[in-house]
Amino acid sequence: MQPPVREPVTACVALGANLGDARKAVLQTFEALNNLPGTRLKGRSRLYRSAPHEAQGPDFVNAVAQLETSLSAPDLLDALQALEAQAGRERPYVNAPRTLDLDLILYGQSRIDSPRLQVPHPRWRERAFVVLPLADVWPDQVSAQDRARVANQPIEVIPEDKACPFGFVADFAADHQVVTCRALSCGEGR
Ligand code: ADP
Ligand code: MG
Repeated sequence: MQPPVREPVTACVALGANLGDARKAVLQTFEALNNLPGTRLKGRSRLYRSAPHEAQGPDFVNAVAQLETSLSAPDLLDALQALEAQAGRERPYVNAPRTLDLDLILYGQSRIDSPRLQVPHPRWRERAFVVLPLADVWPDQVSAQDRARVANQPIEVIPEDKACPFGFVADFAADHQVVTCRALSCGEGR
């Protein structure tokens, strides 16, 4: 008998880094997410620079990736934690600076409250560095109230060359869907 085929789900992942080459780590992670089994990068936000919020160290580079994935939510979290580990993530203390932090913000309409995974992420609406980039890729999820709640948090868009030096060349439609991603394994025109 064939195993049941899981319907793909739209999931959102918040990316953050403030140690090492944070911008490079975030850009490379878009590609790594696109290469996860049963997963494609559907869209990605602009890059943002934010001051540490309930965290320490230098400014963060933040973004949100929108995925279409057949992975279950726990399997996706495993994959995200493996990518954090590959990027050299260490957890010397709570809210320590990090080479890469990947938080699962939304997994379809699912609500999950297990010891290792809460979805929707319980604090995303308090964080400008999630609210703003999420609005880039999935504006329906973000209300005017959500934006107002985080309006006092310092954050700015990082200008990007279309041809960035990390082998990731992405062109975006106005709605931030990835329309071409030449350096990604998916090829052009997705
Ligand atoms: P934080 O992102 O809160 O600064 P960590 O990245 O170290 O801290 O994550 C701490 C724990 O949060 C992880 O071990 C993970 O099991 C748990 N966790 C719960 N819900 C989520 C979620 N939605 N996304 C990512 N991690 C989560
Ligand atoms: Mg995290």
